[in-house]
Amino acid sequence: MSMLSEGRPTRQEDNLQMTDTGSITTHTGNRALMVDEPLIFEIGSPDRSGVDLPEAPPVESRLGGLEREAPMAIPGLSEGETIRHYTRLSRQNYAIDVGLFPLGSCTMKHNPRLNEKMARLKGFADIHPLQPVDSVQGALGVINELAVWLIKLTGMYGVAMTPKAGAHGELCGILCIRAGLEARGDAREVILVPESAHGTNPATAAFAGYKVEDIPANAAGRVDLEALKARLGPDVAGVMITNPNTCGLFEPDMKAISDAVHEAGGYVYCDGANFNAIVGKVRPGDLGIDAMHINLHKTFSTPHGGGGPGSGPVVLSEALAPYGPLPFTERHADGHITLVEEETVEDRHPHTFGRMSAFHGQMGMFTRALAYILSHGADGLKQVAEDAVLNANYILRSLEDVLEAPFAHSGPCMHEALFSDKGFTNELTTLDLAKGMIDEGYHPMTMYFPLVVHGAMLVEPTETESKAAIDQFIGAFRSVAERAKAGDERLKSAPHFAPRRRLDETQAARKPILVWTEDEDFAQAAE
Ligand SMILES: *Cc1c(COP(=O)(O)O)cnc(C)c1O
Repeated sequence: MSMLSEGRPTRQEDNLQMTDTGSITTHTGNRALMVDEPLIFEIGSPDRSGVDLPEAPPVESRLGGLEREAPMAIPGLSEGETIRHYTRLSRQNYAIDVGLFPLGSCTMKHNPRLNEKMARLKGFADIHPLQPVDSVQGALGVINELAVWLIKLTGMYGVAMTPKAGAHGELCGILCIRAGLEARGDAREVILVPESAHGTNPATAAFAGYKVEDIPANAAGRVDLEALKARLGPDVAGVMITNPNTCGLFEPDMKAISDAVHEAGGYVYCDGANFNAIVGKVRPGDLGIDAMHINLHKTFSTPHGGGGPGSGPVVLSEALAPYGPLPFTERHADGHITLVEEETVEDRHPHTFGRMSAFHGQMGMFTRALAYILSHGADGLKQVAEDAVLNANYILRSLEDVLEAPFAHSGPCMHEALFSDKGFTNELTTLDLAKGMIDEGYHPMTMYFPLVVHGAMLVEPTETESKAAIDQFIGAFRSVAERAKAGDERLKSAPHFAPRRRLDETQAARKPILVWTEDEDFAQAAE
């Protein structure tokens, strides 16, 4: 089944080789390019320096006796030592540029270098948000054009560009809902959220002061429409539904859900983090959605997580657009779009709930996202969705004979494949499989999420992986899954080949050591 290019070894059949590091040790403890890099404090010393600066002339202190008496104890290294230290550390990072990132619910896709080039153009990179508007027309044009694309792709009425991540966008949408309800003197107190929701959904609703109640899922992993309808009433402000949902499934009843919620006087928030799977195929506006965030760092390929800031524009329905934050792009009846700014608030946008951020949002992400959208065009974006869904289904069907796939019976998945730990023996768990994947050279998949599936493993390949890359991943995943089912004891102590062995996750969370100190008592106490 392997499509690996010729000569590329696969460990698929030869699991035993995995622990066969033999008894060979090296003088340094390093393993070839795998270097165990000490802390910079351990290799540097305060009297070394990477630069030669002339002695500063004495100046009269104006610090009133508060001058530092001893030199700062920061480590000094030569230029070469410094660059080696950080380069070595960087090589211990897993990143989308190093290998396939199977994290479900994340859309970790390749970030095209073209986008980076665009974002670094001086006219975008070297401007300041307080510059006169006349001098940044091009940058505002980028925001405006991206806003038009987001409105068109979603079939919505307006968009708030300022939220800085998905969770921030959720808050923006819920604040719009609150403002909309309060404007009609109908403050309500409950937000309904499906059991499978991303943790940010209930957190956002609670943060905005709402009571959160669960909506049950049906046997097919979707929102139970009848149970939802039965709960709707005059106290329900709205629902937050992820579509495609966190089981990797499309919610086919979305329009019926929206109609029922509207009928009961509530609003519909859609978590659009998984828009990658439906972009160009489905317009949320046609499904009756009132507010939906789009994670530019997921769907539109801007760097993600440790690699860069997020950006979470929120598209709004005609009913909620009047409450959206400033500054704000607005589509007029003739299709024309303008940026409503603070000074025009009195006459142009009087019902806004306020601001989500000081300025216009994540300019660097806007530039990257627009570059991505323009380089694909509408047809290309549609193909993005189709290829992402095809890749996820390929993984689902290639592994369902070895791993239980809880909802595979209810048809194809969308962007991500969901498996459970059913059939693992010898008390092996999803965590052990994840650690085994590290030895195989992969970042582990999302695990124990969604909570509705026992020992859940959520795998999202995205559209940017080739068939060869996916086959190699499937081979590794299958091999480790087979070992988990066969009860391979050695998985319990994996990873064996990573720079660090298995960490005590409880201690790491409860007693993190976040500062370096020479003080032995402190170091011991921290242990
Ligand atoms: C990623 C994600 C979020 C949160 O987005 P951030 O940009 O990380 O704040 C919310 N919901 C779902 C379903 C997600 O996948």
